[in-house]
Amino acid sequence: MTDFVPKDLNYWITEGQKMVREQQNRIKRAKNWKFDTIATHGVYDLTEALNSNSGSIMEPIYMSPAQAYHDSGEMEAALSYQMPTWCYTRIANPSNYYLEATTALLESYGTGLEASSLATASGMSAIRTATDPFLVKDDNYPPPNFVASAKVYGGSFQQFWVRRWQEQGVEVRWVKNPTKFEEWEKEIDEGTRFVYGEFPSNPSVDIFDIQAIADLAHKHNIPLIVDATCASPALTRPLQFGADIVVQSASKVMAASGLTILGLLTSRKNIVSKIGSDEMKADFATWAKLWPYRDNGPAINPMACIMALNDIRSLKMKIAQMSRSAQLIAEYLENNPKVETVYYPGLKSYTAHDMATKYMQLVDSDENLYGYMLSVEIKENQADSTVNTRKFYDGLDMIWRATDLGRVKTVATLNAISTHQQQGAEGRALASIKPNAVRISLGIEDPQDIIADLEKGFNNI
Ligand SMILES: *Cc1c(COP(=O)(O)O)cnc(C)c1O
Repeated sequence: MTDFVPKDLNYWITEGQKMVREQQNRIKRAKNWKFDTIATHGVYDLTEALNSNSGSIMEPIYMSPAQAYHDSGEMEAALSYQMPTWCYTRIANPSNYYLEATTALLESYGTGLEASSLATASGMSAIRTATDPFLVKDDNYPPPNFVASAKVYGGSFQQFWVRRWQEQGVEVRWVKNPTKFEEWEKEIDEGTRFVYGEFPSNPSVDIFDIQAIADLAHKHNIPLIVDATCASPALTRPLQFGADIVVQSASKVMAASGLTILGLLTSRKNIVSKIGSDEMKADFATWAKLWPYRDNGPAINPMACIMALNDIRSLKMKIAQMSRSAQLIAEYLENNPKVETVYYPGLKSYTAHDMATKYMQLVDSDENLYGYMLSVEIKENQADSTVNTRKFYDGLDMIWRATDLGRVKTVATLNAISTHQQQGAEGRALASIKPNAVRISLGIEDPQDIIADLEKGFNNI
């Protein structure tokens, strides 16, 4: 037994207000810093370290499923969300909070906006959590549909096409060429609940005009949701250009060392939506955390959160090295006689190069960098043949053959037989996935060694 004298509900509500002020002060302090400093320190300071973790300079990993309370008053205040609490790891956890608060600061960096973030068990669950609340039944509107770029990650394609549409009857309207504004415009109607795009897309590295599509969505009183996994906040922060919600498969470059999978959902304050409560629109990520995330259960392990946070500290330098390599290697591939086409936003030959230049820039610098991922089509002797492509691919020695990207190690993927196998020829045509396309995600190795390995592949043809 402790000699603690139990307090009442009001005492704890006042304590809670003090805790909120302390959290806000840490956020305010971090907002004065540059991107790299925020990524390194986030909201974990000396007071927090001394109060909660014996002075540990690194954020603690709280593996406990649950939090204990001093007395019934504190439990009541906490469980009615009248004071900050983590209570049970399916709802919240201090380790997860360090990651979420840092992510919100990075995604809103340089925008003057306030944002909040929610960490989820995977990128797919972040997408599900970001989109679910807009697809609810609402008798004021026709049955829901949503408009999405067809140039999306294979898993997102499946979630939208199979899970949403085929199984649940929520229509997805595909935009085949996301650089064309009119294609988005003509799909939106009274039933449309949100607009969804990937920037740049995986694996075809397509982009879209974030600002124009955000304006279009807002004109219809609906939000724009952007998956910016293949850019990361070190290059592109969609909130800055009007997006309402950003999702990251943080399994990729945000956790580039590859020790975990996870997703991150970030929303600006006061999103635009014709659906949902005022509370939901005021702070979508926090609302999602307190209600549907709690009830649906896509919770993330605190260990994964700290693994990711540790990687995020050095995000900018990794993105810089990977993107500079990607540029060099895209140029090398473009000049290779065994190559048909190279898709990389940093190439002059890339159709939307100017648009990419507007949206992709290394944070806190004036260097235009175009990300870590490129797609290369290998020359074949006949249409739909994959003979040379497979020889090239199987001849790689150091570069990993895997369905992965954003990794510190360079990885190559044959998308037509892996990530985009299940969606069939029709789905692949919609997403422009050719059988001879190889996606290459550049790591942080010396680019000369990467080129030497690609040479081994070409020499195998
Ligand atoms: C990998 C990926 C996802 C899915 O994320 P998981 O963490 O694997 O669930 C979503 N979007 C993009 C662009 C991706 O590359």
